[in-house]
Amino acid sequence: MSDKCSEAFNQALEGYGTYVSAVCDFCGRTHFFSGDTTGWEDAGGVEALEEMQKKADAEPDKYVDWGEVRVSLGDIAGKQYIIGCPCNELAKYENFIWNHRILIMNYYKNQHKAMQENADRLGGQIKESDFNNT
Ligand SMILES: [Zn+2]
Repeated sequence: MSDKCSEAFNQALEGYGTYVSAVCDFCGRTHFFSGDTTGWEDAGGVEALEEMQKKADAEPDKYVDWGEVRVSLGDIAGKQYIIGCPCNELAKYENFIWNHRILIMNYYKNQHKAMQENADRLGGQIKESDFNNT
């Protein structure tokens, strides 16, 4: 695997939708959309967008202007991650999963088998019991 997260993993993580502004919990960078003012009404209005752009000009490593692209995010390990954040913290989770995929697939297989056995046992108990003759 590479140091960059794949598009397939990015798409798998996306789940919270898109926003005009959000913070990456892994690195603290603020990401924002500046394509137009749609959506900024609930986030402080045009003034908030202009303020964000000033901050991005002053501290381009802390504020990421996505232009026409809305900020997309997901949650992993209990933290909010911004898809495409330069910190690229998502890549280590993808690499872990990919590098341990055989172990993970065996784990799923074993869990499935155990759950199936429990379901079969419960099904047998239900069939053996006589709920209608009480
Ligand atoms: Zn980040």
